[in-house]
Amino acid sequence: MLWTTVVAGAFFGLINLVLGAVAAALLEFAMCGLSAYLLYSVPRARHLERWMLAYTLPFFSVMMLLLYLMPDATDTLFVWTLLIPLVAHLLLGRRLGLFISLLFMSIAAFIFWNKNHGDPELTGFLPAANIVLVSLCILYFTHTYEISRERTELQLLRAARTDFLTGVANLAGLSEFFRTERTRALRQRQALSLLLLDLDHFKRVNDVFGHDAGDAALKFVAALMRERLRSTDLVARLGGEEFACVLVNTTGETAVQVAENLRLAVAGGSLDHAGRSIGLTMSIGVAQFGRDGEELQSLLAAADKRLYQAKAAGRNRVVCATPAVAADAIRVRADELWPALQDSNLRPSP
Ligand code: GH3
Ligand code: MG
Ligand code: MG
Repeated sequence: MLWTTVVAGAFFGLINLVLGAVAAALLEFAMCGLSAYLLYSVPRARHLERWMLAYTLPFFSVMMLLLYLMPDATDTLFVWTLLIPLVAHLLLGRRLGLFISLLFMSIAAFIFWNKNHGDPELTGFLPAANIVLVSLCILYFTHTYEISRERTELQLLRAARTDFLTGVANLAGLSEFFRTERTRALRQRQALSLLLLDLDHFKRVNDVFGHDAGDAALKFVAALMRERLRSTDLVARLGGEEFACVLVNTTGETAVQVAENLRLAVAGGSLDHAGRSIGLTMSIGVAQFGRDGEELQSLLAAADKRLYQAKAAGRNRVVCATPAVAADAIRVRADELWPALQDSNLRPSP
């Protein structure tokens, strides 16, 4: 669009200069110059919306001035105003686009009326009704198209951040959420913790009960975690039977308690699938923002290391940064839970 404006501005500017319409030529050269400058600055811009306004407002203003200033201009020059809703919605979105469209289309209508109100062929009832109706139709269709485009874009963005099976976030959702919460934690000096959770011997669930039961188990665990965490926390499925939780404003100590609650809820609850009861347990590694790093990768690496320790120590347990101190408080041997799993068809191996 900028390239088109540069070329068109220079072309029409030259024509008007040759024809002696100096004011019009100067306006077109100015628009050409502004577009050339924007071509240089927009790729480096941080706040693109402001630059969009820096293009559309002068563009439409020059259009209005040309319509107003050029007394010899043919009335067909006004068809250019039909570009206004398209350009405005494309660059400014539906709200600002609609407002700017209405503003400049009204100004154009006013100029048109002022120039032609003595001419019944242009401002009589039928021609006027035609012009107004076509303009409103183009404005309406452009606006509704932009609404549905924005809605679809939102749906696609949401789908790109969501795990298809369980409906919780996926890795992309986790990364985005973490980026926001990391900034908040740093700015407000808040604690932030991350849990990495992996279902124990999940392959057996698939082998014994079938893949459908495995899928149901993943949904069950995801829903259980979603239910038990605060709405401000995030649950994500990283792939397979591995989940992560970001606990905002939560210290490492509290995160261990939360992890322990989740672990007990999964081990204590049972999932009924096709008339059979499936017992599940999970192992959890806890990482703390700051202490284990400030990037998602370092927190995931620290939590993964502890998750591996939890698996090696017998599974169905939580491991945090200080196992020696926390051992008694947080480790619950799988054996202690076996009574709860007595009736289930599946038991974790010791
Ligand atoms: P560990 O306790 O060491 O974690 O053992 P595990 O069996 O849970 O781990 P392993 O990595 O050996 O197996 C993970 C299994 O998870 C393998 C695969 O069959 C299953 N799995 C991965 N993704 C899905 C899925 O989307 N649906 C189902 N039903 N199963 C899945
Ligand atoms: Mg596993
Ligand atoms: Mg795994």
